[in-house]
Amino acid sequence: MLNIALFGPPGAGKGTQSRQLVERFNLCYISTGDLLRKELKAESALGQKAKDIIASGNLVSDEIIVQILEKTITENPNANGFLFDGFPRTTIQAYILEGLMNKLNSELDCLINLEVPEEESVRRLLERGKTSGRSDDNEVVIRNRLKEYHDKTLPVLDFYAEKGVRFDVKGTGTIDDVQEDVTRIAASQYTKKPVSVVVFGYPGSGRGSQARALAEKFGLEFVATGKMLQEEMDAGTDIGKQVAELYASGELVPDEIVIPLIEKKIASSQDARGFIFKGFPRTLVQSYILDGLLMKHGCSISKILEIEVPMLQLMERLAKRSRTDSCMPYDTSTEKIVRRLQEHEQKTMPVIQKYEQQHGVKTIDGTGGFDQVFEDCSYEIQSLFQVGNLPT
Ligand code: AMP
Repeated sequence: MLNIALFGPPGAGKGTQSRQLVERFNLCYISTGDLLRKELKAESALGQKAKDIIASGNLVSDEIIVQILEKTITENPNANGFLFDGFPRTTIQAYILEGLMNKLNSELDCLINLEVPEEESVRRLLERGKTSGRSDDNEVVIRNRLKEYHDKTLPVLDFYAEKGVRFDVKGTGTIDDVQEDVTRIAASQYTKKPVSVVVFGYPGSGRGSQARALAEKFGLEFVATGKMLQEEMDAGTDIGKQVAELYASGELVPDEIVIPLIEKKIASSQDARGFIFKGFPRTLVQSYILDGLLMKHGCSISKILEIEVPMLQLMERLAKRSRTDSCMPYDTSTEKIVRRLQEHEQKTMPVIQKYEQQHGVKTIDGTGGFDQVFEDCSYEIQSLFQVGNLPT
């Protein structure tokens, strides 16, 4: 996700710059001004409340703003990110934005401040007023809007400066010049974010070998819980001993053991470009845990792949593997294989369905050879690092 707020006085060019950012980064555009004008036009109860305030150039109440924002954000659960135009306009709204982002397991990546002197704002708005049809684009109201900006909105800059995500851009250049600066900032924040990929697939779908190879190709940390548990057993650690006992008795390894291992792995891989998860999350509970773990480290899920192979082919592959040297301890009998397939069906498919609704899941045809599947997966992951033709 990439979340941007475009900041600046009325007439700074926020709307103009928003359009290209939205397109380039495929963001959901939220202009509180536009949303309010829509309510006004629809003569809704909210619109009636805001009408006179907008006409006078004052800021409408934070309560009204929360209501219109909440509606738009929840209507776009799969957005690649949000671009806020004209919000936050008060320090209270900055806290509201924190709360909204938190709910999305995300955060504001940059606040881009378009700097335009007051007289230039007035000149631009008067010019716009000739054609905009907006009742608030006349000189008296414009002056009041600018006063509101100085009194209530400017302090928001400090809030984001403290968080290290405030970026100033000279807003008086040509539209193209400003666009170049704004895009460069957004792109640098975008590519700086660690990516997190989750690879799903039934046992035998090739998810393990694909995920390992993808991790190597893209410089991602390979987080495979099965492998991590095996390493603990090989090293004979206390955790390893507990795991060995559980394996021997056929019991599942509890989350209390798995989670600290993942946590350790994420914490020790802060230089990686991101993470690729295989074999986790396996249950709905683990999907919530993963959200929490990623959020703690400033990331969120960027891409979910599901490698699909028909059931008969899976059985055939697993049966074949059980007769080779790469046979896993859990592949040794038909009963064990069937149990693992059932586990996936019953516990992991609901996770994939949840992700499908929340983020969208990219299905990969896993019936081809390794190289074909690898190419298809790579294409999806590559897209996370591309943001079109960026200015250098
Ligand atoms: P804009 O289209 O962003 O220039 O907004 C036009 C008017 O809508 C403003 O002058 C305010 O009256 C109101 N408004 C828009 N966004 C907000 C906000 N975030 N908080 C309070 N009032 C807002």
